[in-house]
Amino acid sequence: MSDPRNVLVTGGNRGIGLAIAQAFAAAGDNVVVTNRSGEAPEGLQAVRCEVTDTASVDQAFTEAEQLLGGPIEVLVANAGITRDTLLMRMSDEDFDQVIDTNLAGAFRCARRASKGMIKLRRGRMIFISSVVGLYGSPGQANYASSKSGLVGLARSITRELGGRGITANVVAPGFIETDMTAALPDETVAGYKKAIPAGRLAQPAEVAAAVTFLASPDAGYISGAVIPVDGGLGMGH
Ligand code: NDP
Repeated sequence: MSDPRNVLVTGGNRGIGLAIAQAFAAAGDNVVVTNRSGEAPEGLQAVRCEVTDTASVDQAFTEAEQLLGGPIEVLVANAGITRDTLLMRMSDEDFDQVIDTNLAGAFRCARRASKGMIKLRRGRMIFISSVVGLYGSPGQANYASSKSGLVGLARSITRELGGRGITANVVAPGFIETDMTAALPDETVAGYKKAIPAGRLAQPAEVAAAVTFLASPDAGYISGAVIPVDGGLGMGH
């Protein structure tokens, strides 16, 4: 077992983020989640954070570092939204909101996290993308663009900070049972199940397992990678 690390998971109050935070906590790490709304999840420390607001991100990191007594060593940029609609009907606002949350939000967190990681000369950044970032998806031009953008972000961070003991990787989940997919119509889910070689949706804990691996000492030489957790849907992309 490795020494406990200071871990920050954005959007860790529910869904995939909560499962990731719980997995780190179960492994003995010191975890803070960000929650934009509602109460802190049971058993976890939480700070408020709106990832579209730079001041809020900076404040959340400062509070988390105070709670944990040191800099963040593992960042999981998980907070994300969808605003699905066909290209012809997609408003500038639909597009901008999704990019601002999913891509620029991750950038703001990575920039703030890098300060402490550079001083420590170690750190792990894990960005939660999606199979549709590389696969594409009708009605998700905004979402897919934001999620493929995370690949460029992680790879640029790898090139910039790889020499300082910092890794940056992307986890690309397929269809996971959370509030986000509960909003999909039944026939859409049935169609996805047919297309997924594994024939089922996944549980959030299955994504968390890939994230905790990328943060583990065993994954120290993995950086700039995209790890799919999608039951074979994206065929390795
Ligand atoms: P949920 O909708 O269940 O949770 C999203 C989380 O992000 C919530 O904690 C939410 O906070 C937070 N969040 C959203 N916008 C902001 C914001 N502006 N500032 C701060 N926090 C914000 O999503 P999932 O758990 O399903 O998804 C988590 C991540 O995984 C997302 O990035 C998603 O795109 C990705 N993903 C999900 C898949 C799935 O099948 N579910 C598949 C592939 C990728 P609040 O509770 O306040 O709304």
